[in-house]
Amino acid sequence: MREWFAGECASRGLGLSEDRVGNQWGWWGDPDGSTAGGIVTGSHLDSVPDGGAFDGPLGVVSALLAIDKLRSDGLRPTRPIGVVNFVDEEGARFGVSCVGSRVITGALSAEKGLALRDADGVTMAEAMRTAGRHPDSLGPDPEALARIGSFVELHIEQGRGLIDLGHPVAVGNGLWSHGRWRIEIPGEPNHAGTTRLSDRRDAVIGCAQLVLGARTAAEAHDSLATIGKINIMPGGVNAIAGLATAWLDARASDEAALSATVAQIAEQAVGLGAVVAEESRTPHTDFDDVLVTRLARVLDGAPVMSTGAGHDAGILANAGVPAAMIFVRNPTGVSHSPAEWAEPEDCLAGVAALASVLAELAEAQP
Ligand SMILES: [Zn+2]
Repeated sequence: MREWFAGECASRGLGLSEDRVGNQWGWWGDPDGSTAGGIVTGSHLDSVPDGGAFDGPLGVVSALLAIDKLRSDGLRPTRPIGVVNFVDEEGARFGVSCVGSRVITGALSAEKGLALRDADGVTMAEAMRTAGRHPDSLGPDPEALARIGSFVELHIEQGRGLIDLGHPVAVGNGLWSHGRWRIEIPGEPNHAGTTRLSDRRDAVIGCAQLVLGARTAAEAHDSLATIGKINIMPGGVNAIAGLATAWLDARASDEAALSATVAQIAEQAVGLGAVVAEESRTPHTDFDDVLVTRLARVLDGAPVMSTGAGHDAGILANAGVPAAMIFVRNPTGVSHSPAEWAEPEDCLAGVAALASVLAELAEAQP
């Protein structure tokens, strides 16, 4: 994918550079030639296990095609335009998302990042060396960040919002607050064939109550709560579980709703004798108001919406970079699945929208 990206940049005459974590940047114009910084677009090319074709790549491909469109329209930007391919956005191997943008902004320290381990116990530092990379270079990269005057990430929508609105594209104005919690529900391991029901302390029963409780809490607070990963010990068909560990993913459009959702689930968990530990929590991210308003004006009539998914654009926004997003309609809403899809005409509408936005922000002249 990285070689493909480098080749696409080369064939367009874009100047390719890498920052300290390995994110790739292709520049049309001199990225250091504008004190206000360049207009950067792009996304990521990595995916999740059994993922789809659009989450990430649509943003990178659309960025390259938007540049093609500006050129075929005979437009020349006054400010430099950059296309970025962020590394390890999904965190599929080491468990932390948006590593590429987190490291260059300092949101994730090199020390913590390099010590992350995959399912086989291999650290990110070891994996980088095996791949011929240099883990020692990892760290915040203020020079790479200073080149970004504004960042606009185009992404396939990961929900059904645009179907209902009847529009092919929308402007993204923010990311919901979200977090992950680990819940350990205790029980007493015993024999499934000889332990009377009245004598059992079955960790899975408590876990099942929490799965349903999470749903109830989400309905009560108009949020989202999901338990998608459960580890049961000892995990035998004929064994009553002595411990169940469940991971809760909770998201909401505002902090209060998220806190209320998690508090309700935690209260139920504590009542079951469980221990709840927060593994991560990311506050609500508002994209740049001025930029969002400008995009909405350029994309005359495009709806403005927020999303429950995390993106590199959110990490950059939290680091003070003016950022916004463009979403392209997903006719099924399915994402992180091979069934993820966008109609070709909607993809082209996305390219046209991005080209208009780039022309406006980069002050393109005929
Ligand atoms: Zn993505």
